[in-house]
Amino acid sequence: MKVTVFGIGYVGLVQAAVLAEAGHQVCCVDVNPKRVADLQAGIIPIYEPGLSALVQQGVAQGLLQFTTDGAAGVAFGELQFIAVGTPPDEDGSADLKYVLAVASTIATHMTSPKVVINKSTVPVGTGDKVKAVLTTTLKTRQQDLQFAVVSNPEFLKEGAAVADCQRPDRIILGTDNPWAEKLLRELYMPFNRNHDKIIVMDIRSAELTKYAANCMLATKISFMNEMSNLAELLGADIEQVRHGIGSDPRIGYHFIYPGCGYGGSCFPKDVQALIKTAEQTGYNTQLLKSVEAVNNQQKHKLFGFLQQHFAGDLQGKTIAIWGLSFKPNTDDMREASSRVLMESLWQAGATVQAFDPEAMEETQRIYGSRADLKLVGTKEAALQNADVLVICTEWKSFRSPDFSVLKQQLKQPVIVDGRNLFEPSRLRELGFTYYAIGRGDSV
Ligand code: NAD
Repeated sequence: MKVTVFGIGYVGLVQAAVLAEAGHQVCCVDVNPKRVADLQAGIIPIYEPGLSALVQQGVAQGLLQFTTDGAAGVAFGELQFIAVGTPPDEDGSADLKYVLAVASTIATHMTSPKVVINKSTVPVGTGDKVKAVLTTTLKTRQQDLQFAVVSNPEFLKEGAAVADCQRPDRIILGTDNPWAEKLLRELYMPFNRNHDKIIVMDIRSAELTKYAANCMLATKISFMNEMSNLAELLGADIEQVRHGIGSDPRIGYHFIYPGCGYGGSCFPKDVQALIKTAEQTGYNTQLLKSVEAVNNQQKHKLFGFLQQHFAGDLQGKTIAIWGLSFKPNTDDMREASSRVLMESLWQAGATVQAFDPEAMEETQRIYGSRADLKLVGTKEAALQNADVLVICTEWKSFRSPDFSVLKQQLKQPVIVDGRNLFEPSRLRELGFTYYAIGRGDSV
């Protein structure tokens, strides 16, 4: 099938590459000329495991192409995906300007029937707004062309995006249009062989499903973080509590890890956006507001430990940081906890000496060159002459360090661990002071 994807970011590029792998012809359109030029030259703008090989394969097979030409993109596919960003507006609600700009591009240039599929995360009612743009523009153009608008939210996880797209748990289709449903069932057939994963529902329910899913996941994290703070005060160990509650199948072990707060491009903005959507209906989302508040507080946790350790005086200290991305296997720094920590450290007069396997370029892009930020090439180099080590992201390569090297390099044998990677008793044995999340009297 011929498919156009607007927006070549984490969602659009992965979706396009995976569709091409399944044999579909995909034209990717982006307004960022550098991004398009890079992709045309074989440079992949984001890091996702397996993505680079898949994109190269799609291009080599002539199934994947990149352009900035919106009109050419509209002419290409009967199926038109919208996968552009929906960043938070000033008041926290989702900014729809990019989504509606694509709708307008499609409406302006279409000369044949199109199915417009929204993959971006958008507030309930956006489908109607996209429909309105298409209807009005086509009317102005005096064109009576058939179109359908579908909500097909994306559930991929950054860091495992390719695998998630290749083997989705579910494919939500929000539509009441049989023609659109038939085309999308055909498109997704290669991903739907093991059992039927397609769930068809009305467009508003599909839009809300995406927010409900992310808000549920964010709630699990904030719940565990709240419990971890309590555990600390009560002298209990949250990791033992986690094992205890996870064994109940109604709770389960998935996604109940305490830590230094959730980040990324989705949870923070989607929780905020749903709070705003609810406000617009006059409903007060008490639970979601607490989820957000607990998370904002949790992001200051590591700085709190450092202040405690240095009795409030961080001036002139060098803090080694392992892990900058908001989670492992991605270079995405959006809303990462490491940013809150680094910014607090700089304000307190400390220097950051950091290593991340993938996110250093992005960190450099965000913060530029500054004397109090040293990005180094290995995790060991981050330790040299540093006062203490802080772990912000649970990259696999941080899980089994050589503790004797750590002890040798650090000025003080102190680890502040935002991801509970180590056993407190073991670190105590080795002579470390170990601050972790909710581990009772571990320090
Ligand atoms: P991104 O910022 O990585 O990419 C968006 C791309 O859209 C950019 O390359 C931008 O240049 C391009 N763009 C903007 N306006 C355009 C236009 N008019 N025409 C063509 N391209 C345009 O964003 P992302 O992380 O891929 O997220 C996209 C959407 O998917 C968001 O709504 C997000 O909430 C949702 N989502 C993201 C994830 C994730 O893990 N990143 C997961 C599920 C859903």
